[in-house]
Amino acid sequence: MTTLEVTDLSKNYRLRAGTKSTLLRAVKDVNFTLEPGRTIALVGQSGSGKSTVARMIAQLEAPTSGDILLNGKSFARHGRGLREYRDEVQMVFQDPFASLNPFHTIEHHLARPLLLHGKASGKLEVRQKVRELLERVNLEPADDFIDRRPHELSGGQRQRVAIARALAPGPNVLIADEPVSMLDVSVRLGVLNLLARLQREENLAVLYITHDLATARHFSDEILVMYQGEVVERGPADDVILNPQADFTKQLAAAAPEPSRNKRFTSVAARYAQNTPETPIHKEST
Ligand code: ADP
Repeated sequence: MTTLEVTDLSKNYRLRAGTKSTLLRAVKDVNFTLEPGRTIALVGQSGSGKSTVARMIAQLEAPTSGDILLNGKSFARHGRGLREYRDEVQMVFQDPFASLNPFHTIEHHLARPLLLHGKASGKLEVRQKVRELLERVNLEPADDFIDRRPHELSGGQRQRVAIARALAPGPNVLIADEPVSMLDVSVRLGVLNLLARLQREENLAVLYITHDLATARHFSDEILVMYQGEVVERGPADDVILNPQADFTKQLAAAAPEPSRNKRFTSVAARYAQNTPETPIHKEST
């Protein structure tokens, strides 16, 4: 059972313009606990500090202050025990094109973390594990994808490869930073549904970062609303959306498409929520 806790997490950036220097408080005293089998959505407009939180948790940036605790052990000191941490905590980025190397095959992308994290050795075992990873993200038949390169895949398929790569080390915590915002609208729900299934079946703890309240509500247990670096509201997903307290959340909720007013969204989301068998992805059109 892996629990990731952030306590009073803060990040300041020093901005310099000519001889002047100012301090930007990008993230201020953020606290939450990610538990197995649960999804927390971090919601907010652009610039509210969501990605900075994600980058700190992914150990891509050091916090200015505060702590990041994995099963009670501190990993706030940037880069310390990184391999051990990454065995447990993995990240899915917004842009699957940028995060996959155009020169390497899908097998190469997935074999590398398997080898690095000691999950497979020898050519045959690696290939078998790569196949299994592709099947877990519904890229089937796996042999149709294994030797391809990222540009030969659709955006949705590429993001599934990025998710498979994140799963390769066998993590218990997944940080998904705007995982569908660069994808074609028609494939977004499929990818979110995949993340939801993985969370359920593999008991993952998921941090879902998004500016989209509607999907935050459907795909998370708890919502944290960020505004100018601070968490201004938090609670069970339905409560935050249906009964927002903070002014900013009210504005956000008023601006968001309301699922109950949007029949198309409701029907698609409802189908996914009811675990409609997922369509094999080679039939995906974009
Ligand atoms: P969000 O993910 O919610 O869009 P970010 O975490 O990317 O927000 O950014 C929060 C704030 O921190 C923004 O004002 C942004 O301009 C600033 N910021 C982010 N990264 C840096 C950086 N490396 N240097 C200076 N300012 C940054």
